[in-house]
Amino acid sequence: MAKKAERKGKLVIVTGVPGVGKTTVLTAVIAECKNRGLRVSYVNYGDVMFKSAKAKGLVKERDQMRRLPITLQLELQLAAAKKIRSMAEDGNVILDTHMFIRTPGGYMPGIPSWVAKSLAPDSIVLLEANTAEISLRRQKDAALRLREADSATKVAEHQLMGRAGAAALAVMIGCTVAIAENREGDHLAAAVAIVDLFSKGS
Ligand code: ATP
Ligand code: MG
Repeated sequence: MAKKAERKGKLVIVTGVPGVGKTTVLTAVIAECKNRGLRVSYVNYGDVMFKSAKAKGLVKERDQMRRLPITLQLELQLAAAKKIRSMAEDGNVILDTHMFIRTPGGYMPGIPSWVAKSLAPDSIVLLEANTAEISLRRQKDAALRLREADSATKVAEHQLMGRAGAAALAVMIGCTVAIAENREGDHLAAAVAIVDLFSKGS
């Protein structure tokens, strides 16, 4: 395993509730990194898990994974962590994931301690937005994704869980935590704040 000190680049984990705009913001992050001549690879944790879950015949759709038995989800998650760790050995990586996944059995940690220790991120970014706006963003792409139609109160609870999880991981592994706001119609501002984490000390 490449420990933080041995790694050639930085590993920044970006978390946020479904529909907050992680993938949208991170697409802009990659474009901005190119403009600045910074080499950063984008990895989506769910995509890595989905690839193996689909190959094993466990699911057909990505969003079906959170309905699998928790033990199976945790197994897929740990296998994905190992893959991602090797991807992060040679350069900067930005990892798109969730701090907590809402499952029928309760909130499941997206970055349990064993995954955090294995990945040893330099920073965790919490991407947040107004809860009513998040509910609307989920409705916008309901045709593309099997999204949970949560009330603003539930979305707020989920965002709070994200902060609690990031604080716990920061204390445990010594990474920094940054909070970025993805304001309506201004995902570029959040993108610039994230790119700065790769160019400045973090
Ligand atoms: P998931 O965790 O489910 O993958 P996500 O956090 O990656 O979700 P996106 O798919 O990037 O979320 O965005 C959800 C929806 O919100 C999309 O329709 C996207 O276009 C829209 N969106 C993202 N950021 C903004 C913004 N700043 N203003 C308005 N709409 C936005
Ligand atoms: Mg996404």
